[in-house]
Amino acid sequence: MPIYSYKAIGGGCAHCRDGFDAMQSMSARPLAKCPQCGGKVKKIPARCHGHKNILSNSNLRDHGFTKLVNKGGGTFEKTT
Ligand SMILES: [Zn+2]
Repeated sequence: MPIYSYKAIGGGCAHCRDGFDAMQSMSARPLAKCPQCGGKVKKIPARCHGHKNILSNSNLRDHGFTKLVNKGGGTFEKTT
């Protein structure tokens, strides 16, 4: 089954605020609400699930995520 990505339109909860993936059949209707908080969500255009590393820094940046690497001693370095 394909995986669809959704993201909260409003504030959202911890589950949907930064987006989440949902596995749905092709015929299923897209989600309109977050399954956790019931807040409105929108479908994000399908991303490539091929051999591309979805957790690569460039891909995270493309999707608006920030990756922080723990450098120890309570300091974090932003890598995206
Ligand atoms: Zn939510």
